[in-house]
Amino acid sequence: MGRRGTTRKREHTPVMRQFLRAKGQHPDAIVFFRLGDFYEMFYEDAARAAEILDIALTSRGTGPDGRKIPMAGVPHHAAAGYLATLLRAGQKVAICEQMAEPASVRGVVPREVVRVVTPGLCLEPDALDARAENFLVGVTQDGGIAALELSTGTLRACALDVGPQWVGELVRLDPAEVLVEPGEQDLDALCGQSLPTAAVRRVEVEGDAVLRDALTEDQATTLQADPRAACAASLVLTYAKAHLADSPIHQAVLYDAGSRLVLDDAAVRNLELVRTLDGERRGSLLHLIDETKTAMGARALRARLLEPLTDIERIRRRHDAVDSFFMDARCRDQVRAALGAIGDLERLAVRTAVGLASPRDLGVIRDSLSAAATLYELLAARTGGVLDDSMASMRDVDLCGDALSLLKNALVEEPPAIDRQGGIFREGYVAELDELRALSTRAKDVLLDLEQRERARTGIGSLKIRFTKVFGYYIEITKSKLDAVPDDYVRKQTIANGERFITAELAELQDRILHADERARAIESAAFVKLRRTLGDEAARLHRLARAIASVDVSAALAEAASARGYVRPTVDGSRDLFLEDSRHPTVECYAAGDGFVPNSIALEGDGTRFMLLTGPNMSGKSTAMRQAALAVIMAQAGSFVAAKRAQLGIVDRVYTRVGASDHLARGQSTFMVEMTEASAILRGATDRSFVILDEIGRGTSTYDGLAIAWAVAEHLHDVTACRTIFATHYHELCALADRLPHAANFNVAAKEHGDSMILLHQLVPGGSNRSYGLAVARLAGVPPIVLARAKSKLQELETDTNEAPKPQLPLFGGSTRPVSEVDATLRALDVERMTPVDALVTLARLRDLAGVDDDE
Ligand code: ATP
Repeated sequence: MGRRGTTRKREHTPVMRQFLRAKGQHPDAIVFFRLGDFYEMFYEDAARAAEILDIALTSRGTGPDGRKIPMAGVPHHAAAGYLATLLRAGQKVAICEQMAEPASVRGVVPREVVRVVTPGLCLEPDALDARAENFLVGVTQDGGIAALELSTGTLRACALDVGPQWVGELVRLDPAEVLVEPGEQDLDALCGQSLPTAAVRRVEVEGDAVLRDALTEDQATTLQADPRAACAASLVLTYAKAHLADSPIHQAVLYDAGSRLVLDDAAVRNLELVRTLDGERRGSLLHLIDETKTAMGARALRARLLEPLTDIERIRRRHDAVDSFFMDARCRDQVRAALGAIGDLERLAVRTAVGLASPRDLGVIRDSLSAAATLYELLAARTGGVLDDSMASMRDVDLCGDALSLLKNALVEEPPAIDRQGGIFREGYVAELDELRALSTRAKDVLLDLEQRERARTGIGSLKIRFTKVFGYYIEITKSKLDAVPDDYVRKQTIANGERFITAELAELQDRILHADERARAIESAAFVKLRRTLGDEAARLHRLARAIASVDVSAALAEAASARGYVRPTVDGSRDLFLEDSRHPTVECYAAGDGFVPNSIALEGDGTRFMLLTGPNMSGKSTAMRQAALAVIMAQAGSFVAAKRAQLGIVDRVYTRVGASDHLARGQSTFMVEMTEASAILRGATDRSFVILDEIGRGTSTYDGLAIAWAVAEHLHDVTACRTIFATHYHELCALADRLPHAANFNVAAKEHGDSMILLHQLVPGGSNRSYGLAVARLAGVPPIVLARAKSKLQELETDTNEAPKPQLPLFGGSTRPVSEVDATLRALDVERMTPVDALVTLARLRDLAGVDDDE
């Protein structure tokens, strides 16, 4: 009993104690704990990671409680992919590294958390989308918004009142992670609903001292000009500081979200600017026109599409730049070829500054700087040496020539991906390294010489001096020659077909060679860190150059897209007009309609017809036409050419869309509620400079309610808001409204009737339409003939009741037995020729039902 009672208290192993310490420092992160060639995770981290990563959950020994310790691991060399998956799932990961080579320490290898990676604080290329920014956004109760893009070292902040525009701004930023200041307003819920892919966390704001800490004095002063924005900036910087040793900010700016074309979240989503409604990139406008050659150009183009301008002069300058490349195809090709050789200078600059860049990364910077110089020469040659306004971004650009020559002198042609194995520097860059290399080469010659001498001395022609990592250098003698081995040979190992020996001379030589190699690696590694630091100090200059390159890339890309797809330069002015001659929907024309897209002209005048009431059959192209007008506005103000033969546009301040029924059910809102919420945002936010497209307002409720709402909304937009509007509807009753309102006109998308079906012409023509051809579309969609026939007879019945049309909520199926006339009408409406035998049987059964024939009869 005594012995049992005194059982030694079990403790964690030293390694597990190290793990628990790291976990204690970062309780809310999954700890990637480096053990040899693996990152291991333990306890609840292991369980969570195993589920997210779909990897095996195993165990490692037992803990003090006698229970097995759950463990899951990922190989070190493949860690980047797993890390990216964890970040996408919203997790934080603390990377705990071995701080010394295991071979060089006795006992437990020291380990420390070197950085914590979160979805919004991420520098890992595998976890980042090269063609999109990755924002960590902080929001405060009073509407402050700050967005940190760590990988490019930029911070921007603004303030808006919490409301639809505020949400629109967040949606546009599309953050990976959002930090919310807790308080009266339930901002977490708001962010959670509007940003389904972002990780949302609550973080307390602790004053703005961190601004002075993390930023330069100028940057801090800039942000402090707006206290709400500064507060949001403090939120993100505090969070960054808690997770990273170093977060270089090259640019910190206040921006005025109102000085740009305001796109609410519905517009960004429904117009499929950067992603389709299914979340895919392919099929979006951005995907279609993204002809950029560099990653920073791709990011800049995306940002431009999401933040079009409202300043006429700035827009014209962008058009000028696109125009200059549009007109000169040869120059465009050359410039794009030069751009193709430029890597992601913007993100590499940050990786260099925080000490994460590899020798290969510095090689990419070198090649990019060299291509940037070529790019500059091409542009300068074209303009006779003086870059015009269109190339203003490149005019006074600092090409960082000093950094280029430094890297050219230092690095070999193709530097390795890791710095520990050497082979980074050219001869002549580090004198001591050259000496050691010479020594090592000389020693290798001596080795060959020794081999020759030993062959001669022993008379064994097959004698070889060899090397393995485990045994070092040795002399290998095959079995048949073992008799001739001299006495001074010391045996090291026996192998299948011979023996391995060492001699005093060989041992000494080995010492010299290995020592020189080891020392060379240490010197090379130190010299690399120094070079990286020197370059890192210039990161802000590299960043500026990267931005200038991005701007050229975007202009050349937009010119390429315009030329390939037949877009035209729009004129922008201060009017409130919108003229699009033969315009097309850029993505529908490419992806959906093939060559058969029918161009349409749209004309809206601020003081003339500014309200277009659009009717027409289902599937005729109403939504397409109104969306293409909205897309033309956005593209033009973003600085792009547009899909039309001619385009003239009076600057728009906001684009509002109420189109289609996007599915918000998961967010707890019914279809009709979403419709009304969007309508309400439009009625409250639109000005006489706005452009509004409304598709089928009022469809989600009873006919009278819906018609009444649609009527009132239309009147309000026409009379009070006075904005340019395209209003598509199937309520043909509204056509009467257009006849009554002075600034409204009826249009319809034409279709030709062909018996019971119709031919869609997709052509926008003046005048209202009085039919929807809903049944024809229902037939196209494969609705069973009996249902079509029944609908047709019902429609005739409703239509004959001319005085009171529409007749909503009729008890369509009021009684169990139909009057004979109904059965008769249905029978007449049947399209027998198109029926399959099964259709016929089903139809017969249904007709018996309608006639009230009992199954037993
Ligand atoms: P509904 O009233 O049923 O919502 P709609 O009139 O809004 O229909 P759209 O959704 O705009 O119709 O268009 C339906 C399809 O018709 C599009 O997906 C496209 O393939 C084709 N289409 C639309 N406009 C054109 C056009 N101008 N030229 C060629 N095809 C077109």
